[in-house]
Amino acid sequence: MASTVVVGAGIIGVAVAYELQRRGKQVTLLDRSAPGSGASFGNMASIAVTEFMPASRPGIFAQMPKWMLDPEGPVRVRPTYMIKLIPWFLRFLSASRPSRLRELEAAGATLCRRVHEDLDALLKETGLRHMLSANGCLSLYADEAEFRADREHMEVLERFGFRHEILGANAIRDLEPAVTTTIGKAVLFPDNRSVADPYRFVVALADKFRLLGGLIEEGEVVEFDHGEKGVVGLRLADGRRLPVSEIVLAAGAYTGRLSARLKEYIPLETERGYHTQIMDPGISMRHSIIWPARAFMVTPTAGGIRVGGTVEMAGLDAPPDYRRAEVLVKRARQALPELQLRQTTQWMGHRPALPDTIPVMGPSAKRNNVWYATGHGHLGLTYAATTGRLMADLITGVEPPVDMKPYRVDRF
Ligand SMILES: Cc1cc2nc3c(=O)[nH]c(=O)nc-3n(C[C@H](O)[C@H](O)[C@H](O)COP(=O)(O)OP(=O)(O)OC[C@H]3O[C@@H](n4cnc5c(N)ncnc54)[C@H](O)[C@@H]3O)c2cc1C
Repeated sequence: MASTVVVGAGIIGVAVAYELQRRGKQVTLLDRSAPGSGASFGNMASIAVTEFMPASRPGIFAQMPKWMLDPEGPVRVRPTYMIKLIPWFLRFLSASRPSRLRELEAAGATLCRRVHEDLDALLKETGLRHMLSANGCLSLYADEAEFRADREHMEVLERFGFRHEILGANAIRDLEPAVTTTIGKAVLFPDNRSVADPYRFVVALADKFRLLGGLIEEGEVVEFDHGEKGVVGLRLADGRRLPVSEIVLAAGAYTGRLSARLKEYIPLETERGYHTQIMDPGISMRHSIIWPARAFMVTPTAGGIRVGGTVEMAGLDAPPDYRRAEVLVKRARQALPELQLRQTTQWMGHRPALPDTIPVMGPSAKRNNVWYATGHGHLGLTYAATTGRLMADLITGVEPPVDMKPYRVDRF
C-alpha cells in the first residue's frame, strides 16, 4: 500500500519520520544503508544553539586568499573542484549582502531559539534524555587579538539574546583542567549541549520510530514514477518499485541529486568534515571546546574524546584526505597538551551545505506531494528535533509556530 516515505535515515529523516508516525501517518523510512550511516554518524555531537551565524560574512572573504594558500587552513577547496564550485560560490557571495545577512541571522536564530523546547519534548517522549549532556561549550582564546576577532559572533548572540559568559584563566582551569595554561580567556556557552554518541542517538530514535509502527526499508532511490497527483512511486537501484502517497526527501548532501531528477534545482554542496575518535585519550573532559582561531572542536563523546571540524570542498565522490583530520588533532594537542592518541579511528562525512547557511524545510515548488528537509549544514543534529516538529506541522496541515518562508526551496 502507498504510504508516506521519508528518503534518508540520517538524523533529519529519522526525526521527521518519527514525528509523522507519532501524529498518525503510516511512514516508511528508506535508506540505501542502515540508519545513521551518513553525516549523522560522526558529527561533533554538539547541540550548538550559538552557531547560527551565516558563513557568508565579509570577514570570511578577507581570510579566504590566505586559507586557499595554506594546505592546513580551516577551509580547503581541492583544485580539481574549483570550477564546479563556482555556481555555489556565487550564491554564497550573494548571501553576504548586509541586508541578506541580517535576514539569515534572524532565520537561524529563530530555529535555535526553538531547539531546546523541541529537543526536550522529543527526548521526553522517547525516553532518550540520558543521551544528552548537561554541560555547555567553551570557546578558547590565546590572547586579546583572538578574542577581538570573535567579537562579531558575540554581538550577534547578544542581539538575539543567547547567553554567553566571559571567563578568565582560573575559571577555565576550574571547568576544564586539561586546557593548557596559555589560554587566558574563554567564553562559556552554557546553553549548548552534546549527545553522548550521535550515531547511537539516530539508531535509538529509529528504534522508537519502529516501536510506533513505522517501517524501515533498505534501498537506493534512483528515479521517480509520476502520476496525475504527483510522484506515485520510487524506483530503487535493485529494480524494486515502492508505491508512495507522498515523499519527504531528507537524503542529506545527496538530496540535490534526487531533486534534480524532479527538475527542482537545490544548490546543495558537501562541506566535507573530519573527525578522529580517541578512545583512550589519557584526559577527561566535561565540556565541548572550540578554538575559533585554530578552527577545531573537541567533544567528550562515545566513551572517549572526539576531535573534528574543518571544511573541505571536493564534492561527493572524491576519496577522503585524512591529513585534514591529522591537522585537527595536532591543533587540539596545542589546547590539550596531555591528550594521548591511543585507540583512534578517523572518519569523513558530508555536511549538506546550502550557500546561505539556513536549511530547506517545506514543500516542493514543482510537485504536489514532495517535501524537502535538507541543507542543515553544520547544525543538522542541533536542528533535528525542530525540523521534525516543523515538517510534521506542515505535512499534517497544522500552522507551524514560526514563519516558514525563509526556509522555502525556491528562494535561490
Ligand atoms: C565533521 C562534522 C562535524 C559536525 N558537527 C556537528 C555538530 O556538532 N552539531 C550539529 O548539529 N551538526 C554537526 N554536523 C552536521 C550534521 O552532522 C549534519 O548536518 C547532519 O548529520 C545532516 O543530517 P541528514 O540526515 O540531513 O544527512 P545524513 O546523515 O548524511 O543522512 C542522509 C542519508 O540519506 C541516505 N541517502 C542518500 N542518497 C540516497 C538515495 N538515493 N536513496 C536512499 N538513501 C539515500 C544516506 O545513506 C544517508 O543515510 C557535523 C558534520 C560533520 C561532517
